[in-house]
Amino acid sequence: MLTEMITASMLYDYVQCPHRVTLDLFGDRADRDEVSAFVELLWERGNAFEAEVIEKTEEPFLSFRDEPPTERLRLTSEAMVAREPLIHGGRVVSDDLLGEPDLLRLQGSGYVPGDIKSGAGTERGNEDDDRKPKKHYAVQLAFYADILRRKGHMGDGNPFVWDIHGEEVVYDLDSSRGPRIKASMWEEYEEALEATRAIASRSATTAAAWAGSCKQCHWRSACKLQLEAADDLTLIPELGRATREKLSGVFGTVGDLAAAELETFISGSKTTIKGVGAKVLARLHARACLQKEDDPQPYFVEHVELPGDRFELFFDVETDPMRGVCYLHGFVERADSDPESERYVPFLAEEPSAEAEEAAFAKAWAYVDSSNPSALFYYSPYEKTTWLQLAERYPGIATSTQVTGLFETDAAFDLYHGLVRSKMIWPTRGLGIKDVAAFLGFEWRDVEPSGAASIQWYHEWVESGSAETRQRILEYNEDDCLAMRVLADVIRGLAT
Ligand code: SF4
Repeated sequence: MLTEMITASMLYDYVQCPHRVTLDLFGDRADRDEVSAFVELLWERGNAFEAEVIEKTEEPFLSFRDEPPTERLRLTSEAMVAREPLIHGGRVVSDDLLGEPDLLRLQGSGYVPGDIKSGAGTERGNEDDDRKPKKHYAVQLAFYADILRRKGHMGDGNPFVWDIHGEEVVYDLDSSRGPRIKASMWEEYEEALEATRAIASRSATTAAAWAGSCKQCHWRSACKLQLEAADDLTLIPELGRATREKLSGVFGTVGDLAAAELETFISGSKTTIKGVGAKVLARLHARACLQKEDDPQPYFVEHVELPGDRFELFFDVETDPMRGVCYLHGFVERADSDPESERYVPFLAEEPSAEAEEAAFAKAWAYVDSSNPSALFYYSPYEKTTWLQLAERYPGIATSTQVTGLFETDAAFDLYHGLVRSKMIWPTRGLGIKDVAAFLGFEWRDVEPSGAASIQWYHEWVESGSAETRQRILEYNEDDCLAMRVLADVIRGLAT
């Protein structure tokens, strides 16, 4: 039997979802969905950005990107022997590992691999963390380093990413991605490599698990059908692959969990299920029970007081990670719960430049500051983290302290963390604003509303200047704000 070559993109997929590796290798191609327009845009932007960066590179380099694959292998090998300073689009192979790092840079006794990424080189862990390396970038870089080590070509230093902000982000593979992660990035890579090899050789099987990554995956329809037929536990919000693993052997389906006598498993704050605490099990059980009801309705598990309705703002930002720009701050404002007073107020960056981004942020900040809202609603900490990043970039508009201060006022309210996720039980499969507002009957005007689609429209608008596309971006954002308003109104009604 031929050995399947392992590639960096297989490891990338493994980090997103192990089952995607299985399906890409062995799935029935007839079951695949079309590649989403957003994913296509990511590929296009990735290629365009790489070409742009390479064109501007001042260091002398050799590029083999346009050579046929077998030639790339030979040419890369010869270039490394000749100690060329920088190789673009090379190809390296060792054993069953086939790597195509964007860059190979001569450093000391050999080469250090690098990738050109049309995204930020790091990500924000949680609110208090500094920025941390991305796991999917780390496993790919470690993979290239592994091949170079095996071939005796690894240089002195660590792999790196040239990112969308023009920064070189170094990945120290011997360290971990954050204080809460015990394994080093190298150890995470070794685990991913072993697991990917086991999938490729069919010595390990995987199962679908419903998660955020499914939205843009070309197997989403096939997996959804299969998960629904199996009444799979991952159809419960926040019950992912890892928790399903812990529950396996005790509960196999949503129905099993819903039918469980909870007290049999719970003692104080603990349960008989390793790694699952009483609070978490009770919450998942409640969601399973509600999903199984004939006419399920969301309910409170804890009382919540929403900020007053004297002057409310429902706030949503849109960002383009590929361009590294926050392009829209949208607000629906309303006074005294009076529908007549309701108005949408957008601040759009009219082009993807730092100047336009700063100008939009300045107007949005001044608007909130002068509005003195009694309530500033948003959904998840994304608005806060985005504004903190903008404050870092444009401290002349607002400092980080001022932004933090705004989100610490009594008016600021995160409807996701402060309400939907923690204080209520919902029968929906997800807890995003799309899930809960749609459950409440709210309809987006657009047929395919999503943050990813909005990024795609923004890209189209930047390219074409189409007034229609601009309007589509604004309407989508306005609807996201209105969805929050609908949610807040229903919650106020439920609470009384
Ligand atoms: S749809 Fe989801 S579960 Fe299925 S392969 Fe894709 S990411 Fe994995």
